[in-house]
Amino acid sequence: MQEDKRDKIIRGMLGGIGLMCAALVLNCARAGNAAAQGADDTAAVYAASSVKELPVFERDSAYSNVARQVAFGPRVPNTAAHEACAGWLASELARHGAAVTLQKADLPAWDGTILKTTNIMGSFNPEMGDRLLLLAHYDTRPWADKDSDPAKRQKPIDGANDGASGVGVLLEAARLLGTVNPGKGVDILFIDSEDYGTEADDDSWALGAAYFAENPILPGYRPARAVLLDMVGGKNARFASEYFSRRSARALDDAFRGAAAREGYAEMFPSTVGGAVNDDHIPFLRNGIPAIDIIDYQESTGFPETWHTADDNLDNIDPATLEAVGKTLIRFIYE
Ligand SMILES: [Zn+2]
Repeated sequence: MQEDKRDKIIRGMLGGIGLMCAALVLNCARAGNAAAQGADDTAAVYAASSVKELPVFERDSAYSNVARQVAFGPRVPNTAAHEACAGWLASELARHGAAVTLQKADLPAWDGTILKTTNIMGSFNPEMGDRLLLLAHYDTRPWADKDSDPAKRQKPIDGANDGASGVGVLLEAARLLGTVNPGKGVDILFIDSEDYGTEADDDSWALGAAYFAENPILPGYRPARAVLLDMVGGKNARFASEYFSRRSARALDDAFRGAAAREGYAEMFPSTVGGAVNDDHIPFLRNGIPAIDIIDYQESTGFPETWHTADDNLDNIDPATLEAVGKTLIRFIYE
């Protein structure tokens, strides 16, 4: 995930859109217009559903999913650890009863490297329409370029939070989806090559998501709505609304936050806008698909301190945060 010139953005939020950085205003306008043309019927769909007994999200299971990913080593594209992790994720989705589809592509990165990418999707009730897509990126950043120690900045990160946390929550959700049929079409997507970008180029991030949004993974595939989880395992996390999500998919954002409040997590999901983030949800918004980014980004402090540093490791994962996001997600899915 990229921090999009936070100071400018916060000034922009306070002083009006005109102060936001040019690239993002463009992104924002394109995303907003596209989504406005698409039908976001989230409010109707989710208001009509009735409360059922929810399957229980296990924080220890989610945490072990995070630890397992970290144990592969940094999941940098074109490495053996990345490939091994991808294989494990596909096999786990299949074990939980999902129909698994792989989408492979060779995608050029900003530095000329060709990234051998694989997007991995597990579908529950694949015959049903009106599909809910839940996604998280599983690749990790090749460089700890935000570390305070210059000696560490060329080294890859563990990505326990930035990458593995969202995947860990979704794998636990997959286990529950395989146990208790939600009665609706749900796809879990592990997306590749989010975090190989450079701050000099907004389009150098979210390569796997951009490819996925432009190239249907299955004939005619198009989700009705998408929820992205990114950095959902940090200590003292707060999930304010992300700016583009709020602007372009308000009904979906409201529905997810309503589920959080009913789970007792209103404080962790404050009804404020935390900032504008360039992440895997943007390619969906550009294609007119309502999409929200659930991300730990606080207006006053930005991303967690461990972001893109060597400290993004298991020691800084809080199972209570995984549980809060996971329980909210399960309520959102099943209610
Ligand atoms: Zn990142």
